[in-house]
Amino acid sequence: LVSYLFYFSFSSDLIPVISNNFVNPDTIFANNEMSLQDIEIYGFDYDYTLAFYSSNLHTLIFNIARDILIQEHRYPEGLKEYEYIPDFVVRGLHYDVQKALLMKIDAFHYIQLGTVYRGLHPVSDKEVIAMYEGCHVPLEIMSDFYGKSSHGHTMKQFMDIFSLPEMTLLSCVNDYFMKHNIDYEPVHLYKDVKVRSDHKTNKYICYGEQTHAVLRKLSENGKKMFLITNSPLDFVDRGMNYIVGKDWRDLFDVVIVQADKPSFFNDRRKPFRRVTDKGVLLWDRIHHLEKGQIYKQGNLYEFLRLTGWRGSKVLYFGDHIYSDLADLTLKHGWRTGAIIPELRKEIKIMNTEEYVHTMTWLQSLTSLLEHMQVHRDPASQAVIQQWIREREDMRSQAKDIFNSQFGSLFRTYHNPTYFSRRLSRFADIYMASISCLLNYDLKHTFYPRRTPLQHESPSWPEQTSTGAMNIPFQSQQAGSE
Ligand SMILES: [Mg+2]
Repeated sequence: LVSYLFYFSFSSDLIPVISNNFVNPDTIFANNEMSLQDIEIYGFDYDYTLAFYSSNLHTLIFNIARDILIQEHRYPEGLKEYEYIPDFVVRGLHYDVQKALLMKIDAFHYIQLGTVYRGLHPVSDKEVIAMYEGCHVPLEIMSDFYGKSSHGHTMKQFMDIFSLPEMTLLSCVNDYFMKHNIDYEPVHLYKDVKVRSDHKTNKYICYGEQTHAVLRKLSENGKKMFLITNSPLDFVDRGMNYIVGKDWRDLFDVVIVQADKPSFFNDRRKPFRRVTDKGVLLWDRIHHLEKGQIYKQGNLYEFLRLTGWRGSKVLYFGDHIYSDLADLTLKHGWRTGAIIPELRKEIKIMNTEEYVHTMTWLQSLTSLLEHMQVHRDPASQAVIQQWIREREDMRSQAKDIFNSQFGSLFRTYHNPTYFSRRLSRFADIYMASISCLLNYDLKHTFYPRRTPLQHESPSWPEQTSTGAMNIPFQSQQAGSE
């Protein structure tokens, strides 16, 4: 043991230096190099991209959906005792529609043990391993490309921010049925809850303090702008009147409502239709997309033909990585920006002393284990076993700091989550809010950090001066001039 301690204290390369490079939550992060100088046209989704909603909306959706289950689907009155639990779930979780289990899955399709929930209670690792014959989820039953559960894929991935109340309600209803020993079909339950939570309410409180400033900045710099949303005109109009003002439509060159994304990006057949201010649909064929008019549905192929806005001079922002961004990246070559509101909270957590300390200790322990495992004598192995147990504890502590049920949206222990993997594939840049754009001038180039591949030396100099740790924000530059 003494020799290990000796080794430990004398081999400084095993102990990572505690970094005090805190990350600014207003940073725009790059997966792929991109210069705003090349972007002439900016496109936006509406909900959770330009408009944000107070968490009261989730309570409201939960209550409406729960009451409709009771009143229209004759679910037990006892469900009334359940209230919305704000931090029970995180986005990006998978739900096994047949087994009624909610869980987090990593980039390699492995279930993260300790994050499998039946109703409101965790399922033991042993039971999970028995049910799935291990932790791996085969491709055939994983959610489909858009995260849906269809054609034999029994897993559904919840990607929408509006799905937080839906997941919570599913968990509550499962909990009630189990508690009361009611025999039920999980597939019916999933379908009933799904239908109910699609119900969009008009009583909401929305905000977007900086949205107006962002749109004005782009407009003043001569950029074209458009909106493609799945929401209906009256909903968007009311929100934009509040956030931007009555003249919000003057800022956009094209406005498309009820677009039916992701099918908008794939289905060539659906024509555009003009909508009057009163919401009346007109029958004339569309030959131009005119500024000041509102169009419904349509499709991207027609949009590209009518506007000529093709390829990498277009940057589109959305919060739904699959239905807003995936097809644009894979098929159409537009640049994409993901809006991920959870980033702000997670970065603030990662900047705490508690988190930095936990991660530093966890990395040190892992490094020790990696080096010391070659000592096979019983005394050494006893110490190593102790370290392994300690590492397990540290890992679950690191998870709990973010969310005690499911941990971080981005990581399953060491690995990226399934969500993270697809985020890095489908989004050129990502950020907590559209307002992060205010920190950069419109000629800024985003350079992703060169993160070493596993076979590469980690010792190249870091881009510490220009990387995410210390970005030259526009305001700081102005001050130093
Ligand atoms: Mg959205």
